[in-house]
Amino acid sequence: AAMREDRIKKTKTVCTYCGVGCSFDVWTKDRQLLKIEPQPGAPANQISTCVKGKFGWDYVNSGERLTKPLIREGDAFIEANWDTALQKIADSMKQIKDQHGPDALSFIASSKGTNEESFVMQKFARQVIGTNNVDNCSRYCQTPATQGLFRTVGLGGDAGSIEDIASAQLVVLIGTNTAEAHPVIASRIKRSQKLFNQKLLVFDLREHEMARRADAFYRPKPGTDIVVLSAVTKYIIDQGWHDKAFIAAWVHHFENYYDSLSTFTLAYAEQESGIPEQSLKDIAKMIADAKTVSICWAMGVTQHQLGSDTSTAISNLLLATGNYRKPGAGAYPLRGHNNVQGCSDFGSIPNFFPGYELVTDEAVRNRYEQKWNVSLPKEIGKDNHEMIEAIHEGTIKGMFIYGEDTGVVDANLNHVNAAFEKLDLLVVQDLFLTRTAQYADVVLPACSSLEKEGTFTNTERRIQRLYQAMEPLAHTKADWEIITLLASKLGFAWGYESPEQIMEEAASLSPLFAGVSYERLQGYDSLQWPVAADGTDTPLLYEEGFGFDDGKARFYPLTYNKMYDTNETYDLHVNNGRILEHFHEGNMTYKSIGITRKTPQVFLEVSPELAKERDLEEGARVKLISHTGEATVEVHITDRVKGKELYLPLNDNDQGRINLLTNSNVDKDTNTPAYKETAVRMEVLRKK
Ligand code: SF4
Repeated sequence: AAMREDRIKKTKTVCTYCGVGCSFDVWTKDRQLLKIEPQPGAPANQISTCVKGKFGWDYVNSGERLTKPLIREGDAFIEANWDTALQKIADSMKQIKDQHGPDALSFIASSKGTNEESFVMQKFARQVIGTNNVDNCSRYCQTPATQGLFRTVGLGGDAGSIEDIASAQLVVLIGTNTAEAHPVIASRIKRSQKLFNQKLLVFDLREHEMARRADAFYRPKPGTDIVVLSAVTKYIIDQGWHDKAFIAAWVHHFENYYDSLSTFTLAYAEQESGIPEQSLKDIAKMIADAKTVSICWAMGVTQHQLGSDTSTAISNLLLATGNYRKPGAGAYPLRGHNNVQGCSDFGSIPNFFPGYELVTDEAVRNRYEQKWNVSLPKEIGKDNHEMIEAIHEGTIKGMFIYGEDTGVVDANLNHVNAAFEKLDLLVVQDLFLTRTAQYADVVLPACSSLEKEGTFTNTERRIQRLYQAMEPLAHTKADWEIITLLASKLGFAWGYESPEQIMEEAASLSPLFAGVSYERLQGYDSLQWPVAADGTDTPLLYEEGFGFDDGKARFYPLTYNKMYDTNETYDLHVNNGRILEHFHEGNMTYKSIGITRKTPQVFLEVSPELAKERDLEEGARVKLISHTGEATVEVHITDRVKGKELYLPLNDNDQGRINLLTNSNVDKDTNTPAYKETAVRMEVLRKK
């Protein structure tokens, strides 16, 4: 019995299922998961977790895990050993580089992977290959939010901490299904409603749980949030309710900005958004009356052709009302994946080195060139969207993807999958033979977060360590280790033996992380960036000034042209988003029995009005047709959606049906797909 107890082990880990970044202890016996035990000392969640964090781990022992590298031969894969597989990739990359140049290769990092893995991915692209063609899945979700913040306040992260959202007098949720996508943050808001009557204002197309709990809930027409936000800001200024002292002390360009608001009258906003003038006045009053306002938003804002501009409008409103630089206030783009924040922070993006220093800045480049002993590419690289187009055009020939099911989660999948078929080399590194992996020339078996060390950065810029709870499944390796081995096959012996050494290098190169070290991140200790060399971190941004050289913020003038609407042929709008029980493309959660038993599949939400009009009953089967593709799905009738609004969850057991319908339109400033602007028509296959 004593021996059996010896094998029982308790390990601190960080949840991989959303940007809240809950940490807790996981109890294991060898590879068996015994229980998840929350700890009061966990900085983001204390003793709370949601269903995914608690029950979502069976996938680690799924019989479907990849356990051998696979090499394509015709239509089939054959098993190979690691050395053969890595040599084949190295040879093929070298050949593509020699023949077509370094920019013929491209790299997609995983926002589920660790910071250290993002760091080595961008280092591989830049140092070993010589290209800035490296990106990650924040391009599919939150890059527009970061863009809006860069324009106005200068740093691309949440203004404060989850604690600030919890302590705000007024929380505004725009395009975020918080109760399902960020459950522990939603719980904090619910608690604050009870504790001190925190006010809640919600904008969404769908009446989700937080909308039902809100003091006020509005449904602007798809793509018109920017008009509502700008009109409300103008009205606040016209009433003299703006924070004049704050603006005078801290913000540039007020006059220009105010002039740019002239078109955003209440009447115009009512006409575009469908929200009555009186309601717009009520919204403005609610915001102006609150001493502290925190605005949270997510993909309902960003995944539009005006996603960056709408994010910018949010930040403009916060600046006008003085809602930065104080506890309980600020901008909170809620990061989706566990490490969406960190994956970009650590440089897997085409325009920035780690810590958001431009690849076009010569002084910065020199710093990296000296450390890495090569000359580095000077031009900004291609983002995910541009990579797919470049494959179609024939200028990109090779792609390396780790931990991302691009062939399910990107928009307009028929177009994306056609691109994969044109590649000379596609390498996919993952836990499972995903849809994307099925197109690969070489598939490499990676290990899960419980089987490796590293750090994740949550939505509040908090860097936290995960420890190894179990040995990697036989023949699998951590992503950082695989990339390190591949680099050495191409003549770059990095010599990393642990993620800690990678973090040391990142901290030595990037001022944003200067004081980050594994020692300072022991156990439940964490650091919120920027972290000064002496280890001082920054829970609340901008106290010392905004993220520009002169420490001042900037109002950013905006214009609006209608970009999207349904039409006669495609008369229904299909929205998409998350459901509580499942994560992303579903590769992991659908393999967790406790979760699938409860929610075995997703349904198309249809309003009672539309069901009546089309003569549909619960469980009916319909085909949705957009101008890019079609998908068949079963119907759930619910008054969460209204009129001609449909909702199809994206967490779809690796089927990605929503993305057979989405198109190639993108946010005009960041190329983030406009997933939320999808018009369809419906054919009824079965009425009940
Ligand atoms: Fe926490 Fe998010 Fe994981 Fe749920 S999914 S336990 S809220 S980190």
